[in-house]
Amino acid sequence: MVQVDGRVTTCCLDEHLENVIGNLTEQPLAALWGGETMQRWRLAQVEGRFEDSGPLCTRCNWQSAGAYPEPKVAEWLQAARARSAKPAR
Ligand code: SF4
Repeated sequence: MVQVDGRVTTCCLDEHLENVIGNLTEQPLAALWGGETMQRWRLAQVEGRFEDSGPLCTRCNWQSAGAYPEPKVAEWLQAARARSAKPAR
């Protein structure tokens, strides 16, 4: 979700902007979307570690990783781990 001032949060439920990952006035969306925080929080979501996927997620009753089909989760995890294993350029 993008706020009028450019702040980007991971969730449409984040009305108090607890899961802000950056600001579009400072970085392009692609950098935020593929950035370290988003990758780390995505992995935590997929693994069901909501306490590590953003401050709001810890106490959210909409914890949604289970809604993603298992084969897709496995595919995503494999790709994410392969990406993280590559040396940074
Ligand atoms: S766990 Fe809750 S707060 Fe976190 S992204 Fe999902 S719906 Fe939003």
